[in-house]
Amino acid sequence: MPLLGGVAKEDSMSDMQLAPWTFLGLGVLASVVGCVDGSIPTSQGAPANVSSGNASGAGDTGHPFGGASGAGSVAVGPCTDTQSDPAHCGSCSTACGPGQVCDSGTCKAPVTNCPAPQVSCNGVCADLTTTAHCGTCEQACAAGQTCSAGSCTCPGAQMTCNGACVDTQTSVEHCGGCSKPCATGAACNAGTCGCAAGQQLCKDVCVDLKQSDTNCGACGKTCSTGQVCSSGVCLSGAGSDGCTGGPAVGVTLKRIDVYQTVKVPVMDSGAEITTDKRTTDIVTGRTTMFRLSLALSAGFSARQLSGRITLDNGTTAAQYFAKVMVSKDSVETEPTSTFQIVVPADQITADTLYSAELVECATATGQAGSARFPASGQIPLAARHTGGLKVTIIPLKSNNKVPDTSDTTLNTYRQQMLAMYPIDAITFTVAEPLTIAYPVDWEGTLDQLRAKRKAENPAADVYYYGMLKPQDTFSAFCQNSCTTGIGYVGETNSGGYRAAMGVGYADRVSAQTMAHEIGHNHGRNHAPCVPNGGSISGVDSKYPFTDGRTGIIGYDSRSNALLSEKGTDLMGYCSNVWLSEYTYGGLTDRVALVNGNKLNVLDAAALQTFRVLLVGGTKGARWGVPITTPSLPEGTPVTARVFDDAGNWLQEITVYRTEISDSGRASIMVPEPEPGWSSIDVAGSGAVPFGR
Ligand SMILES: [Zn+2]
Repeated sequence: MPLLGGVAKEDSMSDMQLAPWTFLGLGVLASVVGCVDGSIPTSQGAPANVSSGNASGAGDTGHPFGGASGAGSVAVGPCTDTQSDPAHCGSCSTACGPGQVCDSGTCKAPVTNCPAPQVSCNGVCADLTTTAHCGTCEQACAAGQTCSAGSCTCPGAQMTCNGACVDTQTSVEHCGGCSKPCATGAACNAGTCGCAAGQQLCKDVCVDLKQSDTNCGACGKTCSTGQVCSSGVCLSGAGSDGCTGGPAVGVTLKRIDVYQTVKVPVMDSGAEITTDKRTTDIVTGRTTMFRLSLALSAGFSARQLSGRITLDNGTTAAQYFAKVMVSKDSVETEPTSTFQIVVPADQITADTLYSAELVECATATGQAGSARFPASGQIPLAARHTGGLKVTIIPLKSNNKVPDTSDTTLNTYRQQMLAMYPIDAITFTVAEPLTIAYPVDWEGTLDQLRAKRKAENPAADVYYYGMLKPQDTFSAFCQNSCTTGIGYVGETNSGGYRAAMGVGYADRVSAQTMAHEIGHNHGRNHAPCVPNGGSISGVDSKYPFTDGRTGIIGYDSRSNALLSEKGTDLMGYCSNVWLSEYTYGGLTDRVALVNGNKLNVLDAAALQTFRVLLVGGTKGARWGVPITTPSLPEGTPVTARVFDDAGNWLQEITVYRTEISDSGRASIMVPEPEPGWSSIDVAGSGAVPFGR
């Protein structure tokens, strides 16, 4: 059965937010047009085109600058209307004679009797339906307005702002009303200022957080010198670093470490560290930081050098760099003493070749060192393809509340998973909510999720993750201590047990819980770390550090930060979580295996139906949701005993056990009872009646 109303959510870095309104104090420029032509008419009397109208007119009214001097009229004052201003009639340099009026740019004698429906306006016949005399004489309409029924009106829903018709629905100067300007780069939509899709308001300016070097990933986050913003992450600049001094002298390129989630050394003291000697793999399609460490020869004078990484992907070669002021040997715990060069995820493929070199940014003299690896040409990076992760999110409705599973909110989890897991993508699909009890029955709900997955029968590589938020805040839900998540510790081929659940507060704890519980689904048991006074079950006896620390420098590509090897592992209960090589390597193997084993070849004869028994913990044994479609058994085969009605031992049978994390319990697949079987005892569960 397909997911009802399930919505596929593609991976995306986008984090579009609607900007709050911001108004800039944009001044309105008053436009004053002076008389551009200051010449003076030289001849007395009317200009050449003066009309010979009725000379016995209405006199000199309305002619403020009309000169009576015998030297002729002088055009003075502002020239704004050459159609009706007698001082500037027809042109700025033309003044009408004494007593004349200006009618449509022509000097005339004033008139009083006009043919209907025209009327005399200051001695000129005028039509009161025109924009020059709308309704009454001299009532002129603003630009863009029309005269309708004696009133000046703007077209449609436009308003008059500063004497002009404006669509306040779309005008960036008058958005939602006159003189309400939008921020720089913003658009006005339906009378509301907003940044364009993909942009966000940072300090009154709309910016693209994916590309802005001064707002990279977040407002105000500025990339360092030599870095550029790419997809919201500051990357060491691709292309030329402008350094022309040739190979660095007086230095030796000592180590190259590749950081994804954890450090992977690839060169030490000039020798390649091949994949068989690497403790963890470099994974394709992940944001990657190359870290170059150097040693100085005696007499080195402090100066800036550039560290370059060249990546050759067959058809393309790209160079990335970081510049460092070098004054001493590199120290691993001091980031600024090393060259840290971040390259984008798509540059890391299974076929990528690379080289690293240190170069002088200006001319320098000194003894040539070993500033390049390899000495010439390129060497395989030997990255491993693992693939992506597919997670179906089941919102769990508990205490009548469901968590926010919007795409924006899920981005918190997405970024956490991409930063930690050896994957090149993660896809969330959100299903319809499932109503569960409150207080939460963790093992029972997990059994429901397993049964739901079984019924819906998705591809083998799909993980089901129940997300719950039974109280509005995490502190209200958790009080002092609480269970935040639970999941099956999945065996290699236990597709049916790829289910887990955890809190959904979209915060650090919730995102880490998802990473932890889905880690269980990837077969990871607990790292031995628990806060004082707590307890932890299912500890992995093979974990390499007894205090649960990661034991290796980590790297968080979200913040481009190096993380201490004293941090504790994701699979423990301590805070400050990151990943050890042990956990990261285990996840890498499992992701690659699950993504490589999508086709299960089924032997129909081996298929059968099962009961599901939950055992262990303090709650006693109980039956879960049975598996009624013929299936292959999943889990570790273990022996169980079955009894008859009288409690007599009948025989031993094989059942299949999958551990449930964080609870000390297990889920057991038990074959359907045969005639005469009354009860079963699994690993000290006591006799559990088959019942029903
Ligand atoms: Zn756990």
